[in-house]
Amino acid sequence: MQITNGSAGTAVELRHRVLHADPDANAELIERLRADGVRAIALTVVDNGGVTRVKVVPVQRLASALRGGIGFSVVWAVAGADDSFALSAPFDTPAGDLRLFPDFDALSRITGGPRLVWVPADQYTQELDVSPCCQRSMLRGAVERGRELGIEFKAAFEVEMSLLGEDGDPGHHGPGYSASALLEVEPFALDLMDALAGHGIEVEQLHPEYAPGQVEFSCAPRDPVGAADQLALSRIVARKVARAHGLAVSFAPSVHPGALGNGCHLHLSAWRDGVNLMQGGDDAVGGLSGDGAAMVAGMLHALPEVLAVLAPSVLSYARLQPQKWAGAYACWGVENREAALRLVPGTVSSRASSANVEIKTLDGSANPYLALGVLLSAALDGLDRRAELPRPVQRDPHTLSKAERAKAGIARLPSDLGKATDLLARSEMAVKALGPELHHAFVTVRRREWETYGRRDHAELIPEFRLRY
Ligand code: GLU
Ligand code: MG
Repeated sequence: MQITNGSAGTAVELRHRVLHADPDANAELIERLRADGVRAIALTVVDNGGVTRVKVVPVQRLASALRGGIGFSVVWAVAGADDSFALSAPFDTPAGDLRLFPDFDALSRITGGPRLVWVPADQYTQELDVSPCCQRSMLRGAVERGRELGIEFKAAFEVEMSLLGEDGDPGHHGPGYSASALLEVEPFALDLMDALAGHGIEVEQLHPEYAPGQVEFSCAPRDPVGAADQLALSRIVARKVARAHGLAVSFAPSVHPGALGNGCHLHLSAWRDGVNLMQGGDDAVGGLSGDGAAMVAGMLHALPEVLAVLAPSVLSYARLQPQKWAGAYACWGVENREAALRLVPGTVSSRASSANVEIKTLDGSANPYLALGVLLSAALDGLDRRAELPRPVQRDPHTLSKAERAKAGIARLPSDLGKATDLLARSEMAVKALGPELHHAFVTVRRREWETYGRRDHAELIPEFRLRY
C-alpha cells in the first residue's frame, strides 16, 4: 500500500469529501487495506490537555466511519492530562456528540506490522461542519490564511524524550552526547529509526541528550499539518518501540526532579514563490528578509500571551528556566540558544533552503496543532502589520542586568502556568487565532490544571504526570 503522510487539504475540501464521498473510491481504499492485512484503524486526536486520544475501528466498519464518522463526546474539549474534565458551559453537559473523521491523506501504518493503521482525525459536528474545537482544523485554517497571502510554511520538530527502565531508572547515564550513553540505548535507537522510517518519518539525526536517559531525534521539515501529524505519530511509534525493549518513554517537560527537561523545539520557515523568507536579507537582522523579519517580530511579540499554548502544563515551568537552552526569555538572536527564538541561518552552502527560526519554548505537553497554529497566526499577524523586529540579542539574557534587559526590551516569559494562563485568557490575538470556543475550552483546561496542581511541589507531581505525555 502506498503510504503518504500529511494533508494539504483545506477544511472546506474535507467537508466536501465527507458530504460527497465517492463510495467507489472508499471501497477501493478499504479493499487495499484488507488486502494488506489491516485489521483495524486507530483514529487519533490530540486534546487540549496534550494527550493523544484514540478510537479504534475494525476495517469492516470503515465504510460506515467514512460516511458518518465516529462518536466523540463534546466534553473532550475540556479534558485534562489527568483525565479530569474542566466542566464549563457549553462543555458541561453529557449531551451532544461530535464525529471523528479519519483523514486518509495522512494515513500511515502503526509500528509492529500491518494490522493496525494510524490515521489523524478531524472533528465535525453532526451537521458535518468542522467543529470550532477541532485543533487540527485550527492549524489548517492558519495554513490557509498564509496561503491566501502567498506564504507557505515549513515546520520541523525536534523530539526530546526520556527513556525509563524498570522502577523509573534512566535508560542511560550520560555523559550527554557521549558514545557511551549511545551504546546504552543503541538497540532501542536503531529500532526506533527503522520504525520511524517505516512510517515515512524522515529522521535527520538522533543523539543521547544531556539529561539522564534523554534521547533526541529531529525530523525533516514539511507542511505544518503533516509535521504535527508526524509528531503525534512519532510519539506513538517511540512508545511502542520502547515497550518492546522493556522501556517506558516520557515526553513530559520534566521527568527527573532538578534535571534538564524535555523540549519540543520547532523549526519554522516561511516561503513565497519558492523563496525562503528566513534568508536573503540584511546582515543586521541575521539575513532575514523584510517579510521574514516582520513574521519573527509577530511571533516574538505574541510569545508571552501564547506561552500557555506552547508550555501548557504545571511542569512546563520546571523546564522553562534560564540557562537551560529552553527559551525562557522573550528575545531573538542569531544562533543564540538562550533566546526563545533562535535564527538558524545555516551554512552558506545550504542557506537558501535551510534557514529557519527555532522556537525553543515549546515542550512535549503542548498540543502540536495548536502550538503551530498560534505561532503561524502570530507570524502572519506580524507580516500584516509590518511589525518591527528589535535588534538581535547575542548574549545570554540571564547574565544581563535588569536595566540592560529593560533597555533591550527583553522580558522574562511568565514563570508559572497561572501567570501564563492569565495572559492567554486576556489575549485578543489568541482569541482570534484559536476562535472563541477553542480559546475558552483551552483556557478552562489550563485554569483547572493550575488550580488543582499549581501549589504542589514539582518533584511530587513528576511521577503523576511523566507517563501522560
Ligand atoms: N533540553 C533542552 C530543552 O528543554 C534543550 C537542549 C537543546 O538545545 O537541545 O529545551
Ligand atoms: Mg536537544
